[in-house]
Amino acid sequence: MPIRLLPDELVDQIAAGEVIERPASVVKELVENALDAGATRIEIEIEHGGVALVRVRDNGQGIAAGELTLALARHATSKIASLGDLEAVTSLGFRGEALPSIASVSRLRIVSRPAGAAQGAEVDGGTAEAVRPAAHPPGTTVEVRDLFFNVPARRKFVRSDATELGHVTRLIERLALSRFDVGFRLTSGSRVLLDVAACDDASDELSRLARLLGSDFPAQVLPVSAGAGSVMLSGWMGLPTRSRAQPDRQFWFVNGRSVRDRLLMNAARLAYRDVLYHGRHPLYVLYLTLDPKLVDVNAHPAKLEVRFRDSRQVHDFVFRALERILAEARPQPEAAVTTVGAPGDDVAPAALPLREPSRDSWLVAEALASVAPAASQRAADAEDQPLGSALGQLHGVYILAQSRAGLVLVDMHAGHERVLYERLKAERAAGSVASQLLLEPLVISLKAHEIAALLEERSQWEQAGFELGALSDTQLVVRRVPAHLKVAEVPGIVGSLVRDLADDVGTHHLEKAADRFLGALACRTAIHANRRLTLPEMNALLRQMEATERASQCNHGRPTWTRLTLQQLDQLFLRGR
Ligand code: ADP
Ligand code: MG
Repeated sequence: MPIRLLPDELVDQIAAGEVIERPASVVKELVENALDAGATRIEIEIEHGGVALVRVRDNGQGIAAGELTLALARHATSKIASLGDLEAVTSLGFRGEALPSIASVSRLRIVSRPAGAAQGAEVDGGTAEAVRPAAHPPGTTVEVRDLFFNVPARRKFVRSDATELGHVTRLIERLALSRFDVGFRLTSGSRVLLDVAACDDASDELSRLARLLGSDFPAQVLPVSAGAGSVMLSGWMGLPTRSRAQPDRQFWFVNGRSVRDRLLMNAARLAYRDVLYHGRHPLYVLYLTLDPKLVDVNAHPAKLEVRFRDSRQVHDFVFRALERILAEARPQPEAAVTTVGAPGDDVAPAALPLREPSRDSWLVAEALASVAPAASQRAADAEDQPLGSALGQLHGVYILAQSRAGLVLVDMHAGHERVLYERLKAERAAGSVASQLLLEPLVISLKAHEIAALLEERSQWEQAGFELGALSDTQLVVRRVPAHLKVAEVPGIVGSLVRDLADDVGTHHLEKAADRFLGALACRTAIHANRRLTLPEMNALLRQMEATERASQCNHGRPTWTRLTLQQLDQLFLRGR
């Protein structure tokens, strides 16, 4: 489309664009223009944090000499011409405001040559009428010097060169994550800060991610790929055990545009709620693509937030897709774990493969009965047993196991807790909670306020398989309990549960009250430290974990197991050097 002035009615429909407030705003507008022009290689040069110079060169389609003057006019754009175009816009820009805004606060020069043109042409922002011939390869260079030279008020808000350069660098990193098919090079003076070639395949993409987000990024994430109708979600999501203290590695892209959208961030947060340690943040790089007509990008001056036509549907799709991937995570190749220098560096669990749970063997006690001694000596096929076969118990807390890859350590309480929690949730969802009627009702003494609190939450208790009532202010009668509870332990467990729920102990990250209840129940009924387990019991637990969703983290988001590969052990003992 040629560059044209937008009709007044359309100008009125367009949200006013962001003011140019710092060098990074200039870089953003110029690089987005280059991307809109179909460039596959973009070079950004910065001097003095961008205040002295921002120069962006691209190999895109260029601007015809006859349109250079118009490119600098307000509300002139080649990207939309009608309201219909605006509603289905796929370009990053569409307001026709960036170049005139930048030209009004700097010394701007454009040199450009369309692919078919015999020669290039240049124009100065100050004298937009005077277009001269100039040498240039096909593509465009926009040069912005002395930013804010004529607006001291804005100049005052510009920070040190290093700070401004930091903003520019993070911006270019985000843009480089948004378009793997484009090469980017960022230099400041003579320093090359980033130089990434256009990616040809998935392995190039992983190298770019490693370059931008850290060399261990590929080992920390699960690939994401999901679709529902015309809505597609792809990218990478961090393993729960690789969470971060800050939400500083969360990237969302909608139709190629980097956004900080609350709805999407919330959907991702919810997906992790069952597996993340309290106060930790997941990392992810996620791309949502959908029919441009279903999303309004004209809702925010910086286009950072978007408005979905059907926001509920988008939210649920994203939430469900991410939650499923976390639940069904497959094992990382062992090789990903073995590239580590020192043990302890990188021994967080990869995801476990899911296998069919053997019927009714989810409890260690139950499982024990179903595991014949001969079977437990398991000419075990170590390959499909990532948690290996148990060798013994360590300090009453950990199970030590040998797997094909090396050594596995399992936190037996944490692992069992997750097994129970997932089982309880599944039973609840199926409406078939296994419970046992007590031969003799149990009478438990509690404080009056504890009984009152319990009765307020009575439906939770009943949904989990309890049947109980008050005998007096301080006496509770229990007639039925969940099937996996040992009768002798019921009074202790009921008392602890009442207090856990009052204090929200360790369950606060589970958002739904019902999940909190089941989480607390699982925690209180899972095998505790110093409980002696036999080898068949240990193996039964390992097999249960392998068959359980999300088994790599306990309900509190802590890892349940870790491994040291043979290679890591060899490194530890300097073998083979
Ligand atoms: P917008 O991007 O909203 O259209 P701009 O002020 O950023 O508005 O740019 C005005 C017009 O100049 C664009 O619509 C486009 O036609 C042209 N233009 C700007 N930069 C480039 C570039 N790097 N390559 C090709 N055309 C460009
Ligand atoms: Mg633009």
